[in-house]
Amino acid sequence: MPAKKYDCLKCPGYCCSYPVIEAKDRDAERIARHFGLPLKQAEKKYFKSAHGYKRIMRRKADPHFGKICQFFDTKERRCGIYLARPSTCRIFPGEGRCGYYDFLSFERSGQEDETYISTTDHSSN
Ligand code: SF4
Ligand code: SF4
Repeated sequence: MPAKKYDCLKCPGYCCSYPVIEAKDRDAERIARHFGLPLKQAEKKYFKSAHGYKRIMRRKADPHFGKICQFFDTKERRCGIYLARPSTCRIFPGEGRCGYYDFLSFERSGQEDETYISTTDHSSN
């Protein structure tokens, strides 16, 4: 297995700011269970149909990216439902590299600041 070249704990959560994060039926059921809500109620509260998908994550305001997944913990900068997160989130970015992290590392080294947060513009989506 190739060594992982990214560290989510040092990242502000670019992948969670992506506007289209799909949740499958099983993901919605798991998230509804996680919050102890009937599926129908959870569907309305946490998801919407958009961009040609039956179900994507609803989003909320974020100081860095404009908008981010509503389950993102904006203080800790990590997933707030880690154990119940959708399969899309589980498989991203796969083994090896994360393009967002490469970008972040490049910008941080350019700024000579290991805490620098460069933004992407997903906010208009
Ligand atoms: S963008 Fe990459 S490094 Fe950052 S949290 Fe997502 S997977 Fe981890
Ligand atoms: S469910 Fe968690 S990992 Fe997935 S996009 Fe939302 S905050 Fe990120």
